[in-house]
Amino acid sequence: MLEQLQARFPDLRFVASSRFCWSPQTHEIGYDQARHDQTADWSLLHETGHALLNHTQYLADFELLRLEMAAWAKARELAVDFGVTIDENHIQDCLDTYRDWLYKRSICPHCSTRALQQNDYAHYRCFNCHTVWGVTPSRFCRAYRATKNLKQHPTTPTAVFSLKKSPSEDGDF
Ligand SMILES: [Zn+2]
Ligand SMILES: [Zn+2]
Repeated sequence: MLEQLQARFPDLRFVASSRFCWSPQTHEIGYDQARHDQTADWSLLHETGHALLNHTQYLADFELLRLEMAAWAKARELAVDFGVTIDENHIQDCLDTYRDWLYKRSICPHCSTRALQQNDYAHYRCFNCHTVWGVTPSRFCRAYRATKNLKQHPTTPTAVFSLKKSPSEDGDF
Protein backbone atom coordinates (compact mmCIF):
# COMPACT_ATOMS: atom_id res chain seq x y z
CA MET A 1 0.00 0.00 0.00
CA LEU A 2 2.81 2.40 0.90
CA GLU A 3 4.55 1.86 -2.45
CA GLN A 4 1.27 2.32 -4.33
CA LEU A 5 0.46 5.54 -2.51
CA GLN A 6 3.95 6.92 -3.00
CA ALA A 7 3.79 6.11 -6.73
CA ARG A 8 0.40 7.73 -7.11
CA PHE A 9 1.28 10.80 -5.00
CA PRO A 10 5.01 11.41 -5.51
CA ASP A 11 4.81 14.75 -3.73
CA LEU A 12 3.73 13.25 -0.42
CA ARG A 13 6.39 12.44 2.17
CA PHE A 14 6.00 9.18 4.06
CA VAL A 15 8.29 8.63 7.03
CA ALA A 16 8.68 5.63 9.33
CA SER A 17 7.36 6.44 12.77
CA SER A 18 6.09 4.83 15.93
CA ARG A 19 2.51 5.45 14.87
CA PHE A 20 0.28 6.58 12.03
CA CYS A 21 0.11 10.32 12.03
CA TRP A 22 -0.25 13.38 9.84
CA SER A 23 1.96 16.29 10.80
CA PRO A 24 0.72 19.61 9.37
CA GLN A 25 3.95 21.29 10.49
CA THR A 26 6.32 19.08 8.55
CA HIS A 27 3.80 17.90 5.93
CA GLU A 28 4.83 14.34 6.60
CA ILE A 29 2.79 11.19 6.93
CA GLY A 30 4.14 8.98 9.66
CA TYR A 31 3.55 5.27 9.41
CA ASP A 32 4.03 2.51 11.94
CA GLN A 33 6.54 0.07 10.47
CA ALA A 34 5.63 -2.60 12.98
CA ARG A 35 2.07 -2.94 11.75
CA HIS A 36 1.29 -4.87 8.61
CA ASP A 37 -2.32 -5.85 9.14
CA GLN A 38 -5.34 -4.64 7.22
CA THR A 39 -6.01 -1.78 9.62
CA ALA A 40 -2.48 -0.49 8.96
CA ASP A 41 -3.46 0.02 5.30
CA TRP A 42 -6.63 1.78 6.40
CA SER A 43 -4.68 4.05 8.73
CA LEU A 44 -2.27 4.86 5.94
CA LEU A 45 -5.16 5.79 3.65
CA HIS A 46 -6.63 7.92 6.41
CA GLU A 47 -3.42 9.86 7.06
CA THR A 48 -2.99 10.29 3.31
CA GLY A 49 -6.51 11.73 3.34
CA HIS A 50 -5.38 14.38 5.86
CA ALA A 51 -2.40 15.18 3.64
CA LEU A 52 -4.37 15.41 0.39
CA LEU A 53 -6.96 17.64 2.05
CA ASN A 54 -4.04 19.69 3.36
CA HIS A 55 -5.39 19.71 6.90
CA THR A 56 -3.57 22.29 8.92
CA GLN A 57 -3.74 23.48 12.48
CA TYR A 58 -7.18 23.71 14.00
CA LEU A 59 -8.21 25.60 17.08
CA ALA A 60 -11.50 24.39 18.48
CA ASP A 61 -11.99 20.82 19.61
CA PHE A 62 -15.11 20.33 17.49
CA GLU A 63 -13.07 21.27 14.43
CA LEU A 64 -10.83 18.28 14.97
CA LEU A 65 -13.73 15.85 14.71
CA ARG A 66 -14.90 17.48 11.47
CA LEU A 67 -11.43 17.11 9.95
CA GLU A 68 -11.20 13.50 11.12
CA MET A 69 -14.46 12.70 9.36
CA ALA A 70 -13.27 14.45 6.19
CA ALA A 71 -10.02 12.45 6.22
CA TRP A 72 -11.98 9.19 6.47
CA ALA A 73 -14.24 10.28 3.61
CA LYS A 74 -11.11 10.84 1.51
CA ALA A 75 -9.71 7.48 2.66
CA ARG A 76 -12.90 5.77 1.45
CA GLU A 77 -12.44 7.34 -2.01
CA LEU A 78 -8.79 6.26 -2.17
CA ALA A 79 -9.69 2.78 -0.98
CA VAL A 80 -11.99 2.33 -3.97
CA ASP A 81 -9.16 3.32 -6.32
CA PHE A 82 -6.80 0.84 -4.66
CA GLY A 83 -9.33 -1.97 -4.53
CA VAL A 84 -9.48 -1.94 -0.72
CA THR A 85 -12.59 -1.96 1.44
CA ILE A 86 -12.41 -0.12 4.75
CA ASP A 87 -14.63 -1.61 7.41
CA GLU A 88 -17.16 1.05 8.38
CA ASN A 89 -17.07 -0.19 11.98
CA HIS A 90 -13.36 0.55 12.08
CA ILE A 91 -13.99 4.10 10.94
CA GLN A 92 -16.67 4.60 13.58
CA ASP A 93 -14.37 3.11 16.26
CA CYS A 94 -11.65 5.55 15.32
CA LEU A 95 -14.04 8.48 15.36
CA ASP A 96 -15.38 7.27 18.71
CA THR A 97 -11.91 7.56 20.24
CA TYR A 98 -11.98 11.22 19.24
CA ARG A 99 -15.54 11.72 20.44
CA ASP A 100 -14.72 10.09 23.80
CA TRP A 101 -11.55 12.07 24.19
CA LEU A 102 -13.16 15.39 23.28
CA TYR A 103 -16.10 14.68 25.55
CA LYS A 104 -13.89 13.86 28.52
CA ARG A 105 -11.91 17.04 28.03
CA SER A 106 -15.11 19.03 28.31
CA ILE A 107 -16.36 17.52 31.57
CA CYS A 108 -15.86 19.73 34.62
CA PRO A 109 -13.35 18.05 37.00
CA HIS A 110 -15.21 19.59 39.94
CA CYS A 111 -18.91 19.02 39.29
CA SER A 112 -18.96 16.87 36.12
CA THR A 113 -21.07 19.34 34.16
CA ARG A 114 -20.31 19.49 30.47
CA ALA A 115 -18.60 22.78 29.73
CA LEU A 116 -17.79 24.96 26.76
CA GLN A 117 -14.38 25.53 25.30
CA GLN A 118 -13.30 29.12 25.74
CA ASN A 119 -12.33 31.41 22.90
CA ASP A 120 -8.63 31.01 23.66
CA TYR A 121 -9.10 27.29 22.84
CA ALA A 122 -6.79 26.47 25.76
CA HIS A 123 -9.41 26.43 28.50
CA TYR A 124 -12.81 25.12 29.33
CA ARG A 125 -15.04 26.96 31.79
CA CYS A 126 -17.87 25.39 33.75
CA PHE A 127 -21.00 27.53 33.74
CA ASN A 128 -22.27 25.65 36.78
CA CYS A 129 -19.41 26.02 39.28
CA HIS A 130 -17.18 28.41 37.28
CA THR A 131 -14.18 26.13 37.43
CA VAL A 132 -11.69 26.82 34.65
CA TRP A 133 -9.28 24.16 33.41
CA GLY A 134 -6.62 24.07 30.80
CA VAL A 135 -6.46 21.56 27.98
CA THR A 136 -3.57 20.74 25.72
CA PRO A 137 -4.11 21.36 22.01
CA SER A 138 -6.15 18.71 20.28
CA ARG A 139 -4.29 16.84 17.60
CA PHE A 140 -4.53 14.50 14.67
CA CYS A 141 -2.62 11.73 16.41
CA ARG A 142 -5.00 9.99 18.73
CA ALA A 143 -4.12 6.36 19.25
CA TYR A 144 -6.33 4.13 17.17
CA ARG A 145 -7.70 1.43 19.38
CA ALA A 146 -8.01 -1.99 17.82
CA THR A 147 -11.39 -2.81 19.28
CA LYS A 148 -14.14 -0.95 21.04
CA ASN A 149 -13.32 -2.77 24.27
CA LEU A 150 -9.80 -1.44 24.55
CA LYS A 151 -10.47 1.68 26.53
CA GLN A 152 -8.13 4.51 25.89
CA HIS A 153 -7.10 6.59 28.84
CA PRO A 154 -8.56 10.03 28.39
CA THR A 155 -6.34 13.02 28.78
CA THR A 156 -7.03 14.14 32.29
CA PRO A 157 -7.49 17.88 32.51
CA THR A 158 -4.33 19.65 33.49
CA ALA A 159 -4.35 21.48 36.81
CA VAL A 160 -7.11 23.99 37.29
CA PHE A 161 -6.01 27.48 36.21
CA SER A 162 -2.86 26.01 34.75
CA LEU A 163 -1.65 25.76 31.21
CA LYS A 164 0.90 23.12 32.11
CA LYS A 165 1.07 20.44 29.44
CA SER A 166 1.64 16.80 30.08
CA PRO A 167 4.75 15.53 28.26
CA SER A 168 2.81 12.96 26.29
CA GLU A 169 0.68 15.67 24.72
CA ASP A 170 3.57 17.82 23.57
CA GLY A 171 5.32 17.52 20.30
CA ASP A 172 4.07 16.91 16.82
CA PHE A 173 0.49 17.02 15.66
ZN1 LIG B 1 -6.89 11.49 11.55
ZN1 LIG C 1 -18.30 22.61 37.37
